[in-house]
Amino acid sequence: DKFKDGLTKTRNNFASKVNDLVARYRKIDEDFFEELEEILISADVGVETVMELIDELEMEVKRRNIKDPSEMKEVISEKLVEIYYGKDEENIEHLRLNKDGLTVILFVGVNGVGKTTTIGKLSHQFIEKGKTVMLAAGDTFRAGAIEQLEIWGDRVGADVIKHSEGSDPAAVIYDAIQAARSRGADVLLCDTAGRLQNKVNLMNELAKIKRVIEREIPGAPHEVLLVLDATTGQNAMSQAKTFSDATSVSGIVLTKLDGTAKGGIVLAIRNELNIPVKYVGLGENVNDLQPFDAHAFVYGLFG
Ligand code: GDP
Repeated sequence: DKFKDGLTKTRNNFASKVNDLVARYRKIDEDFFEELEEILISADVGVETVMELIDELEMEVKRRNIKDPSEMKEVISEKLVEIYYGKDEENIEHLRLNKDGLTVILFVGVNGVGKTTTIGKLSHQFIEKGKTVMLAAGDTFRAGAIEQLEIWGDRVGADVIKHSEGSDPAAVIYDAIQAARSRGADVLLCDTAGRLQNKVNLMNELAKIKRVIEREIPGAPHEVLLVLDATTGQNAMSQAKTFSDATSVSGIVLTKLDGTAKGGIVLAIRNELNIPVKYVGLGENVNDLQPFDAHAFVYGLFG
């Protein structure tokens, strides 16, 4: 239901167009597929993914000898889910956690995408499961970033480790790891800067932070989560490319899906970048973060 509510805008856009399409056609012909192609592209599914999907659908229609357009909704849903899961054998949506010690999760992404909010929401989920969470204020660049993280820390009950604005973020992360260890914390969530004005500089900073974490805890960071804003559409795709070229991103958090009618971006990201979407943000409240479930997502679109 969370998915259904959060996806209202996309559902109104996408599902209503598909419903209209299958109602208007008597048979499944080239024109049908052409219109479907346009609908998918307008939902930000991404040209490459759409082409793949249309090919698959055409083959499926032949194979099963489907004549009635009304049967196509089910077939489209099946193929959308398949395109999402097709890349992996196992279920990769879950976070990789350190079973015998501190789990370190690094958050990267440009300013304004919802990084701090996501850290707050995820902290809340861990704390609800009885875990001790600490936060590292690794964005020492943007004015107000440290304070904003502290507000979330207070709200959810997580201690924040910080230095002053302008200090070395890698040193903050180092201190945070020591503090988390000495207090026996289960999870350390690390915020980082998101300025893209000087890309090279930021990417070097992230690499340095990552090296510090790797040196302190073998096997860490357990996840590097790239936060992307769904409302920025194809811009999010190019951010994903920039960040994944510079650091090894293990998963994506796609925020503000509630604010877009083009939720198809999830599938484009998954299919074209081959990085799993681990969570989606469906609102501004602490409970509005959901583990991504392609099945619930696709069926939520038509539901
Ligand atoms: P940061 O600069 O990346 O740390 O971004 P913030 O966490 O400060 O978020 C920027 C704005 O996006 C804030 O107003 C958040 O409330 C809002 N926001 C974050 N996630 C979501 C979401 O999933 N849905 C909606 N509607 N707003 C969100």
